[in-house]
Amino acid sequence: MPQQCSRSTLPLPKQTHPIENSPSSLVRQVDPLVRALNTVMYGLLVHFGTLWMIDLAQRQQHNDSSYTSAAGEEGRTPSHLLSILFLHEYWVYLQHSNVFGNPLLQHLDRQYGIALLKKNQHWSIAGTLTAYWSRECLCLFLCLPFLQRQYNGEQYYFTSTQYMILYSLIYHTIKSRGVREDALKRSSPRFGIMRLVIDKFYLNSMAEVQVTVLRLFLQGFDTYIHFCVVRDLVLLSSPGGVAWCISSMHVLFTVWVVHAALNQFFRKSTASVMVQTWHALTAKKIDNDAMKTAEKGDFIGGKENATNEDKDESTEGESLSSGNSSLTSSDNKSTTNVVQIIDANDEYVVRQLLHHERVCNSLKGRQGSASSGVDKAIRLATSVSILAAFFMIGINNVPMQWLSSGNIVATSDMCNIFQDQSRVLSVALYSWLLWGLLYGIWAIFLKSRSDSQLSNQSSSSRRRQISFIRMADFTVMIGVAYLLPPESKGMLLFTLIVLTGKSFIQSMDISFPRIVWNGLLAVEFLTKLRILRMLQQSSDTMLTSFVLTVLWSLWVVTNANPTPCEVEKQREVADAVFLGHPAELHDCWALWLRPYSLQERWQAPSWVWPLWPFHYVVGWYVCNYRQRLFGDKASFFCSDTVMYGNALMQNWVATHFARHFVTNPRQVKKNIEAAARHAEEIGVKVLCLGALNKAESINGGGLGIVNELGPRRRISVIHGNHLTSAAVVETIHQVFGDRKVKFFLTGASSKVGWAVAQALRDRHAYEVLCHSTDPGRRRFFREHGFASAATLAEGSAFSKYWIVGKYDTAVAQLIPQNSTAVVFSVPHPLGVRSDVRVIEAGTLHMDLQKLDRPRSFTNKLRAHEIFACHAASAVAAYRLEKGSALIDEVGPVDPQEMDSWLDDAKLLGFQIPTFHPVEDDETIQRPAVVIVGSGPAGLSAAAMLSQKNIPHIVLEAQPGESFGSWSNHFAGLEITTQKKWCNLPGLSMNNKDFPEENVSAEEYQRYLQQYVHRFNINIRRGVKVVSVEKGGSEECPWVVKYEDSSSLGNTQLLPAFSVIVATGKHRVPNKNTTDDVAGKLTTAAIQFVHSTEMCDGATWEQAVTAARNGRLCIVGLGNSAADLAALILQRCPTGEKDTTQIHIAARTVPPVFPRKRFIFRVDSLGFLVRLMPQFLQDFFVHLLWTMIPSSKLCNAAFPSHLKRWTKINGRVPVIDKHGMIASGLQSGKLVGHGPILDITSDRNVHFDDRNGSSTAIDMVILATGYKEECSLVDREDKLNGMYKIGFGKDRFLPLKSIGDEAKEIVEEISKVYDRALHL
Ligand SMILES: Cc1cc2nc3c(=O)[nH]c(=O)nc-3n(C[C@H](O)[C@H](O)[C@H](O)COP(=O)(O)OP(=O)(O)OC[C@H]3O[C@@H](n4cnc5c(N)ncnc54)[C@H](O)[C@@H]3O)c2cc1C
Repeated sequence: MPQQCSRSTLPLPKQTHPIENSPSSLVRQVDPLVRALNTVMYGLLVHFGTLWMIDLAQRQQHNDSSYTSAAGEEGRTPSHLLSILFLHEYWVYLQHSNVFGNPLLQHLDRQYGIALLKKNQHWSIAGTLTAYWSRECLCLFLCLPFLQRQYNGEQYYFTSTQYMILYSLIYHTIKSRGVREDALKRSSPRFGIMRLVIDKFYLNSMAEVQVTVLRLFLQGFDTYIHFCVVRDLVLLSSPGGVAWCISSMHVLFTVWVVHAALNQFFRKSTASVMVQTWHALTAKKIDNDAMKTAEKGDFIGGKENATNEDKDESTEGESLSSGNSSLTSSDNKSTTNVVQIIDANDEYVVRQLLHHERVCNSLKGRQGSASSGVDKAIRLATSVSILAAFFMIGINNVPMQWLSSGNIVATSDMCNIFQDQSRVLSVALYSWLLWGLLYGIWAIFLKSRSDSQLSNQSSSSRRRQISFIRMADFTVMIGVAYLLPPESKGMLLFTLIVLTGKSFIQSMDISFPRIVWNGLLAVEFLTKLRILRMLQQSSDTMLTSFVLTVLWSLWVVTNANPTPCEVEKQREVADAVFLGHPAELHDCWALWLRPYSLQERWQAPSWVWPLWPFHYVVGWYVCNYRQRLFGDKASFFCSDTVMYGNALMQNWVATHFARHFVTNPRQVKKNIEAAARHAEEIGVKVLCLGALNKAESINGGGLGIVNELGPRRRISVIHGNHLTSAAVVETIHQVFGDRKVKFFLTGASSKVGWAVAQALRDRHAYEVLCHSTDPGRRRFFREHGFASAATLAEGSAFSKYWIVGKYDTAVAQLIPQNSTAVVFSVPHPLGVRSDVRVIEAGTLHMDLQKLDRPRSFTNKLRAHEIFACHAASAVAAYRLEKGSALIDEVGPVDPQEMDSWLDDAKLLGFQIPTFHPVEDDETIQRPAVVIVGSGPAGLSAAAMLSQKNIPHIVLEAQPGESFGSWSNHFAGLEITTQKKWCNLPGLSMNNKDFPEENVSAEEYQRYLQQYVHRFNINIRRGVKVVSVEKGGSEECPWVVKYEDSSSLGNTQLLPAFSVIVATGKHRVPNKNTTDDVAGKLTTAAIQFVHSTEMCDGATWEQAVTAARNGRLCIVGLGNSAADLAALILQRCPTGEKDTTQIHIAARTVPPVFPRKRFIFRVDSLGFLVRLMPQFLQDFFVHLLWTMIPSSKLCNAAFPSHLKRWTKINGRVPVIDKHGMIASGLQSGKLVGHGPILDITSDRNVHFDDRNGSSTAIDMVILATGYKEECSLVDREDKLNGMYKIGFGKDRFLPLKSIGDEAKEIVEEISKVYDRALHL
């Protein structure tokens, strides 16, 4: 059973006049005569009273000679316009004052209005009232310039009457808008404006008394304003004009009083006559339309409704006076059932009519024409109010005056309409210009409020848009025209010729280069300006101003953008609603600006960023308050309405953005539910949830909404996941075919993800690795026979074919180079990866032929694309139409079910897009770049080559899975520099995988592993390069000789286009120091190891024992020495008998800095220092050395005769990572010595300390660094393509420099690569 909209019931007392109940027939016969006579008497009083008051004012004016008429000239007779205005004003004044003061006349008017109210004829009331008021407004506005006065013949000023006119215009505009609101609601509350304007005065309570007094005051003041206008028009006329005015007042009064007496006699107000005539006219039209529609049937529900409505009305109608019976009967006679349905104003019936029959896009009948009439009247009233405000306030003139004279001149001085006419014109023109801008903003606002169906689809809305653009064009043009000098006729002729040419070209529909077209447009624009300028020059400015104003008013009335009332008319009830939400705050622009909405999909244009504060505020407001303030229907914007086949589809954009799902999830949930409630209430059949609106955490994928709406709901709620899953699976199969492919799937725990995983494995036997960070989900995958991964890095290692079902920026970071990603997350994160082939599998193509109009908003997709979940709403609507019961597709996806959705979608014209199948790996052999070494340097070069798509191979001597020399250093090594300085180009260590600021050598290895997968780097391990020689072919001028396990001692050759040697400079330990410490230790039989040999537990144990006995010596004072000393001290237990001591033998003393002091990180300072010239570097380091207390302490701990660093020379100071060095030196656990001089037989080591002392030592660690030279090649040969990397001088941040070097080298290689191969 159709739902009926509740109608307001009016608690009006019966409106009957005492006389009407009188039994006496004599009284009945005499009564009209008495009423008529009464009105004549009262009218005479008003008329002559008015003349008397005007006479008084005239005498007063003569006495005060300082005031003169603005008209000025003696004997001037009023113009035609002035005469008409005067007569009109006097008529209105007579009517107002008589209605105000004559209870009988008032009663007649009100009685009729009340009758209409009872019959729920709100639109008729609104139409009549606004028609009156708009006419009043226009006339008052036109009177405005004629009421100017001059003081002492010098200055002009605005009179009180003019200000009162401004007030009256605004007052009438507000009233008009108020009655329209009441008409829209089809009810007027007790103190609603429509009731206040019409109803009789009540005095039952204090509140009613106050309201009555206010109503009387407003009505009286309105009457007084009209009196003032009439009075001033007489006073400001010349003597000849005054005589004309007075005599015409007599004539007009005679006509008026006869008409008023007749009104009383026949008990009919003028308004009732007008409305009846209009009803009779429209009834005929409706009758015709209704007959046509009725032939199609299907109004049964409506008829039932109508009968009820008729019954209601007839009961109320009986209470009307006999005088109104003609009205009631005429209504009944002239309407058919269908018309009554429409008259009944029942929203539901109207909706059914529009919905099922699609008869037209707007309401029909009286209500339709009344509503459009009201809108036009309101537009007129509003526009004249604004124009008058500009005129009165004079703000429009200020910029002009300010520009020309540098002073802001008094408003009164600017608006002398009779003497300085150009200024009047400027007032009008600037008013126009400003109004144009205001109107533009208003239009945009309306459009946002309304269905965007207004933007493109219907011809009327297109016309509106065009007219809006024209208006903007025109208003700006007029403003500019005023500033331009007059133009020569020759020039004008030329531009006219160009213009004609442009029209001709346009009509031929030829496409031209954009620049030509823009040029023609510019010429056209200038021509228009010139024509206008000439018009201004040649004609009377006053006339021009007037003509423009009238033209403009006409234009506003006929052509402007739709008001909310019209939007209301156009609203239709959708079969299927897709509820999306904007991803980002700036995406809302896509709703309004069509070109932007079709732009590159997920990238905001740069111009929106400065608007961020605005977006933020708007976003905050719309998410939190719109729905709360304005109810459920304000929880979304309807951005698109189209018919697709038989289904009316709408796109609703919920009023929250992606970030609100995190910041305001509760409000977001409320918004979604509000939209669903509204959809249910208005009769939408299918609500389809898009993007995050179906997030599990928000509403369980729609389950929450289904519960919220309850079991009696009529709306089907779907999430479209079945169709999406089916589309993804079919797309993947289309692209990968039946070959054995391994997929890494992100977002596997979502409904779609899980269905896709199952279908891919069960139907197509693909291998799927499911990703989830949640251990519980991973267990679930395993239980169902799927391999699982906790990190994305595992996915990089697993496959270069990814299925991305979750928006995660780390995906873009870690997905392998040149891989293929099938995405169904919206939006997807791979926009930044141009090397990855992205296949959007969650998007379908639609049959554009099935659209009844172009879509105005496409969710940022191309015109023919549609999200699969969106298309599912059409499928659901189709199923319902076919007789299916309520569809609630909110639970998990059933892989068996999903194909039926896709089949239905295909029936409706949706198609899976066609993609090229993936190709097998490239088999064409191209000359490659050979990289020797897989440390950070070799890998960064390989990654950069990979990005440039230059074939390459990395040869690594070590057979295991380690990278570079990081596995060969001492155990427990922590990289000194922060991780941000250790990142290699193209991939940073993300905080998820590497949460600390610093990473250990082991963790860095893990990063290098990720790096290899990310760039798909091909490493051949266990291949030791023995030489790199010149002498290959033209294409491969280098020959790399290598040995591997298969070569059985023979060297093999590998031709190379180019060679990058990255064998590292921290690989070969330097044990042969100049003072032959190693020899001395061997002779003295003291155990010694190089720092790189501190790998195994036994060696560490020996070192710790020696230290605890105070018999450990570390030779060297670099970073390795400091790290080892600190690590050993950490392992030595402290206690009462603590004899721990480590002796450090140094030849020169370097600066020792703490790693971090306050907020300053020493490596960050290092970054700055390395940019400085040498002398500044030295100065800076010395400064720190002398300033930082712990550095001073370390310095003092070594014998004073030892050399201190005077120049940095690219060396890196010692970093005291955890403060252990400073505290050790202070506590005496670390003892600073000079170098070892000699060792006596009892293992007594003599240091160069100048005090002759010796120390017994059991173990020595040589922290003496590395042989830094490259043994493989001596010199680089860049010219011929042989490079060395990782041998630079930067010791502050070597890893950073390595990355920079790699980029430079690859850039150079890529420059010559294509050229050299003639590709
Ligand atoms: C203890 C220590 C701490 C450091 N701390 C930092 C720090 O905190 N911050 C910083 O930026 N830098 C630091 N560095 C310096 C530098 O960044 C690293 O040494 C870095 O690993 C150098 O990278 P690389 O690729 O040039 O050389 P390596 O990492 O040494 O890699 C060279 C690779 O080439 C292979 N190779 C060598 N010869 C051949 C051959 N003939 N054929 C095939 N393969 C071969 C090797 O097996 C090795 O895998 C530190 C160095 C050391 C020693």
